[in-house]
Amino acid sequence: MSNLFLAKTCELHVHIGGCLSAEHLLELGREHYKNIDWTLYKSSYQKAFGYIPDPCQYFSQAIADENPRALEPFYTIDKKDAGDFNRFQAKYDFGLCIFRYWWHTLGRVNELLDRIFQQHQNEGIRYIEYRALAPHGEGASKDLVDFHETIANAIRDVCNKNFQARYIISLPRNSSLACYNIIKQWLDLKPNLRPYIVGFDFCHFEEGFPPAQLRDFFSQLHADNTNDPENYFGVTYHVGEIFFDKSLESSIRWCHEVVELGATRLGHCIALGLDPEVSINRKPNAHLFESVSERIAQIQYDLKYNEQLKDWGIEINLYELEKELKTLKKISKEKRIKRIYSKDRLTEIRLRQNFVLFQLKKSNVVIEVCPTSNLLLGCIPDPSVHPIHRFMESGVSVTIGSDDPGLFGRSLSEEIDWVVRHLKISNSQLNRHLQNPVDFRFSKRRNKSPFGK
Ligand SMILES: [Zn+2]
Repeated sequence: MSNLFLAKTCELHVHIGGCLSAEHLLELGREHYKNIDWTLYKSSYQKAFGYIPDPCQYFSQAIADENPRALEPFYTIDKKDAGDFNRFQAKYDFGLCIFRYWWHTLGRVNELLDRIFQQHQNEGIRYIEYRALAPHGEGASKDLVDFHETIANAIRDVCNKNFQARYIISLPRNSSLACYNIIKQWLDLKPNLRPYIVGFDFCHFEEGFPPAQLRDFFSQLHADNTNDPENYFGVTYHVGEIFFDKSLESSIRWCHEVVELGATRLGHCIALGLDPEVSINRKPNAHLFESVSERIAQIQYDLKYNEQLKDWGIEINLYELEKELKTLKKISKEKRIKRIYSKDRLTEIRLRQNFVLFQLKKSNVVIEVCPTSNLLLGCIPDPSVHPIHRFMESGVSVTIGSDDPGLFGRSLSEEIDWVVRHLKISNSQLNRHLQNPVDFRFSKRRNKSPFGK
C-alpha cells in the first residue's frame, strides 16, 4: 500500500457542482439534452468567450461518436482559460444546467449525487467534506434551505463504515450573516442533520469582496461556537486565488485578515506562495492598480503591524504613510491608483509573504492546495513556480484537494501524484509534510471521530 494512503483517501476541498466528469455529463444528458434549459450556460459563455455556444450540437456529436471527450472543450478548463473566473463560471454552468434539470424538472437529483458519491468511493476516498453554494437567484430562505437540505440528506444517507462524508455550506460573500441565520434556524429544526454539516465556506468571485466586510458573520459564528462547542462549525475561505484587481501587498493582507477573523482553513492562498515577480508578469498591468479604499486599508494594516513587520525586515516609514493616508482620505474611495513595482518593493513583498505564512503557521491554519486548479484557474505559469513549493518550505500545514475534479480532469490521487512529481520528493517525505489530513477535518473540533474510534 502506498504510504500516501492517508492523503489519497481524505478529500477536504471539493465542490459538488464541479465533480461531474464529461462521462457523467454524457450519461446524464444523453436522453435529455434537447429539453434542458441552457440559457444560463449560453449567456455566461457568451459573456466570457464572445459567442453563443450550441450545447445540443455538442451532445449530438458526442452521442454519434460515443465519445464523452467531445464535450470537454466546452466544459473542462484549459490553459487558455487561465486566471479568468468568468470563463471558469461559464464552463461550470454547463454542468449546472444539467444539474438543475435533474433536480427541478426530473426530480431525480439524488441519482446525480449518487454518481458523484460512487465515483469518490471507487477512487478509495474514505473521508470527504463536500461543499456547495446555493445557485444565485435562489436567495429566498425556503429555496436556500431546500437546496442545502437535499444535499445534506443525500450526504447523510451515503455514509457507511468505509465512506464518511460531511457537508460544508458555501455562503455568499455579500450576504453571509443573513444566510447563516437562516441556516441556523433550519438546523435547530433538523438535529439529525447537524452531525453532517461541519462548516462554512466562501467561494465564487473573490475580487470585490474584502474579508473585512464579513466581520459581523465571524463575530456571530464565534459566539455560537463558544456557546455550543458540540456543534462547532469551522470556516474555510477561498482567498488569494484570483486577485488581479489589487496590489500584491493587499492580496497578502487579505489572507492574514481572514485568519484574524477566525477562518482555520484557507483555500489556495496563491498570493502567499507565488513569487511576486512571477505574479506581476502574468498579465499586462497585473496588480498595478487598486482602489483608494484598498490602499487605505493597507496603510492602516502597516501602521498596526509596524513593529512586527520590522522584525521581519520590512521597513515601515510611519511619517510617509501618515502623509499618504491624509491625502487618500480626501479622494473618492473607488478611484483606482497606480503604484509601480520596483526591485526593492518585490523584495519587500517576499518578506510580507514570509510574515503572513508565519502567522498562519502560528495559528495552526491549514492551506488547502488544489494543484491543477491553481495552475489553470489561478494562472500559475509553470509547475516550478507553484506556491506549494514555498508552502512546504515555510512549514505551514497543507492539505491537497481536487477542487472541481470534473472541470479540471484530475482525481485527488492524481493531484497527489502531481505533487510528488513536481516537488521531486519521495512519497514518505510528502507524507511527513502532509501529516494525516483527517486531523484537519472540521468535525474533529466536535471531538467525535467519523469512524467511531
Ligand atoms: Zn474551491
